[in-house]
Amino acid sequence: MTTGPRIGVLALQGDVAEHLRHLEVAGAEAVPVRRRAELDAVDGLVLPGGESTAMSRLLGVYELDGPLAARIADGMPVYGSCAGMILLASDVLDTRADARWFSAIDMTVRRNAFGRQVDSFETDLVVEAFGPDPLRTVFIRAPWVESVGGDVEVLATVTASDGDDHVVAVRQGNALATSFHPEITDDVRVHRYFVDMVCRSRALLATS
Ligand code: GLN
Repeated sequence: MTTGPRIGVLALQGDVAEHLRHLEVAGAEAVPVRRRAELDAVDGLVLPGGESTAMSRLLGVYELDGPLAARIADGMPVYGSCAGMILLASDVLDTRADARWFSAIDMTVRRNAFGRQVDSFETDLVVEAFGPDPLRTVFIRAPWVESVGGDVEVLATVTASDGDDHVVAVRQGNALATSFHPEITDDVRVHRYFVDMVCRSRALLATS
């Protein structure tokens, strides 16, 4: 019997249970990660939606920030939704002076970018990487990606109330990030895509 990859969800704060459930449906063995030993035992990690500044502080309290930075540098597949996207950026605008992030993706992210009058909204987006059918995307005090480096693949954009298109889903190598929250819809395609990224990375490790 083949088992799915073991994928962790950083479980310090935020919508942890929702990601665990979607990962299981998508074929992974999903486990919460709060300790160094738990982080060491996963093939990939989801950084959930929630509050990036709180998560950043708790990563320090739980002494996970150094080990997480090391695993990301080592190529562990990571997926960040919303607050998790902020944690994966190489630069963050409009955050707290003491916040930290992990530079998994060469991108500048603006926190709470969609503005106060539309703190939360939903829309259908066709995101080719996740399949031809429109994806229900939910944005909650979401960031957008202000700029990306040359190695970053833009997967989706959305037109905001300022009339401009803004990048809301990206991938660079083994790192995936979305401004929206697929974990709070019934659609598991984004999680399937990530499980597939982790499987491929495991297969490469097995042959190297
Ligand atoms: N605004 C939050 C932050 O800065 C992100 C919101 C979310 O994850 N839904 O972390």
